[in-house]
Amino acid sequence: MPETLLRVTVWNEFIHERTAARPREIYPEGIHAVLAAALRDRLGPSADVRTATLDEPEHGLSAEVLSRTDVLTWWGHAAHDRVADAVVERVHRRVLEGMGLLILHSGHASKIFRRLMGTSCMLRWREAAEKERVWTIDPSHPIADGLDGEFFELPHTEMYGEYFDIPRPDEIVFLSWYEGGEVFRSGCTFRRGKGKIFYFGPGHETFPIYHDERVRRIIANGVRWAAPAGSTYFGEGRRIEPSLSPIAAKHDVDESLHRGERGK
Ligand code: ZN
Repeated sequence: MPETLLRVTVWNEFIHERTAARPREIYPEGIHAVLAAALRDRLGPSADVRTATLDEPEHGLSAEVLSRTDVLTWWGHAAHDRVADAVVERVHRRVLEGMGLLILHSGHASKIFRRLMGTSCMLRWREAAEKERVWTIDPSHPIADGLDGEFFELPHTEMYGEYFDIPRPDEIVFLSWYEGGEVFRSGCTFRRGKGKIFYFGPGHETFPIYHDERVRRIIANGVRWAAPAGSTYFGEGRRIEPSLSPIAAKHDVDESLHRGERGK
């Protein structure tokens, strides 16, 4: 059987890298360009990686693009409210159908993540260029594949700390400790419908975090992990009649009870 190509779309709002000096210096072509290069490098010919940004028509996420996307990665910070609800709806539907989704750093506050989680997804933060120690607390997890040691350190990060208002994750792969004393569930997985979601905390735009080989490895592992797999998805409710096998009992059914029309 021929190996199927993994189709990845790297989405970025692409604002800070054009409007602020430090992000522009670190990511002159945009964070999306650096992430796409990292994925091409790590996933090789098994992946087809494209990019999309906020200012493109439909934010570069048309129904056609999404239908050809197996895994979407999301980076946004300054303009979550500028993402059209219709696009959020479309991404949400695709996730339920099985498209993988990686939410990076400040994407915790994106419309799509908050919608999928159903909570505020807010957290504590501090930008003090402090050290972050990222502990691998699920070493058997494929997203941690190939990491050496029990933890790795990023010399300068923005602190994202608990309490992080997310529903209980399916899995916590990474737990971060910061120089200032806070901790954070910095690598969490969730399933919604048939879709797999990975949230990864490190990545503030004024630090070169997406140039770090450990971080790039984790994101590539996350994309691989989130790739669609499994059986056909039947997400819509439906009435089954006739039954799959004979049912002996006699039972009177009042269909109006299901429809809220009783007494009409
Ligand atoms: Zn940040």
